[in-house]
Amino acid sequence: PYTGPLADDVFTKRKKFLGPSLFHYYQKPLNIVEGKMQYLYDESGRRYLDAIAGVVTVSCGHCHPRVLDAIMEQSKLLQHATTIYLHHAIGDFAEALASKMPANLKVVYFVNSGSEANELAMLMARLYSGNLGMISLRNSYHGGSSGTLGLTALNTWKYPIPQGEIHHVVNPDPYRGIFGSDGARYAKDVQDHIDFGTSGRVAGFIAETIQGAGGAVELAPGYLKNVYFIVRKAGGVCIADEVQSGFGRTGSHYWGFETQGVIPDIVTMAKGIGNGLPIGAVVTTPEIASVLASKIQFNTFGGNPVCSAGGLAVLRVLDEEKRQAHCADVGTHLIGRLKDLQQRYDIIGDVRGRGLMVGIEFVSDRKEKTPAKAEAAVLLEKLRELGVLVGKGGLHANVFRVKPPMCFTKDDADFLVDALEYSLAKF
Ligand code: PMP
Repeated sequence: PYTGPLADDVFTKRKKFLGPSLFHYYQKPLNIVEGKMQYLYDESGRRYLDAIAGVVTVSCGHCHPRVLDAIMEQSKLLQHATTIYLHHAIGDFAEALASKMPANLKVVYFVNSGSEANELAMLMARLYSGNLGMISLRNSYHGGSSGTLGLTALNTWKYPIPQGEIHHVVNPDPYRGIFGSDGARYAKDVQDHIDFGTSGRVAGFIAETIQGAGGAVELAPGYLKNVYFIVRKAGGVCIADEVQSGFGRTGSHYWGFETQGVIPDIVTMAKGIGNGLPIGAVVTTPEIASVLASKIQFNTFGGNPVCSAGGLAVLRVLDEEKRQAHCADVGTHLIGRLKDLQQRYDIIGDVRGRGLMVGIEFVSDRKEKTPAKAEAAVLLEKLRELGVLVGKGGLHANVFRVKPPMCFTKDDADFLVDALEYSLAKF
């Protein structure tokens, strides 16, 4: 049993020594002390079903034994020496990652987080195109570093600092967006933005292929195909942010961009690639990668032996345990059951997503789509009482995000939906 400090003391210390911008879920914050596959354990040994996976980061499962073995074996030999020296692990990991990418996306840069990955992608887009202006979607999240903060378009995260030349275009959100599911009309707005709001030339376009922090919003069908054409015509490069949607989580495809039938020029990733290890990566073509050759692009920890060995193990485990097919199977079951619940509870305005990347949007008025923020907060607490942890998202914090470790089973899905139904019935 756990014998460490308890929640009150941990929280007191956190408030005293850590920054005030940290936020927590639940009136009484949870002290999580252990994780095993799709379950988390608090200080009292109580088990919770984890349906948010450390913000969509734990892919194989908490403390997956094979990933742990790879990390420990490498840690005992060599933790760190930098890319100044040769080491096989970084190349092995890059090769495995490149084998997952289509077309000529074969050059990998390793970094330590999603923000760093997007920062680097934006740098490459600007250097390659010779332009500065970046286009991103409203309701997007691409990071909190000073450059990526500009790309992010959710005011919850927007500190008032200079953000560079960024254009936030209309979000192609099938549920709330002004053009419904008409991807081509949203794309036309991008063309308008370029025509009226820029010199006519742009550095690039970035989008999550399914928005994460924004509340599991799938882009309207056909959107990316149209936008990529428009952006390339204006000299820009197209970046897919796969930080949340990659590695088979959508079930139907390994990468989120494949659901839109496009091939990006740059792909950024993080979170699930490491199953909890701090890893980020940028994958691009040799031609675009070459723009960084005029100077040194150095990252002390990027691709270090431990993260590379662990990351390689993650890719192998996901393949060998057939997690993509599993996400499709369990996700279809979960979404089906949630849609059934939606028929019976008006407060569920929308159920959406793919595979194990699912959103449940709560509204107090279905016609007006009034965000049911307070109700969502109460339901979040109720689920926790029943032993289920989900994420919350969307600008109005009225969307539940269900994005568990990819080993989540149909029984787990049933437990989650039953707990939600029980909570709704009591409401
Ligand atoms: N892109 C997306 C889609 C994300 O969800 C996040 C993190 N929530 C980031 C980028 C930034 O990643 P990090 O927190 O690792 O910097």
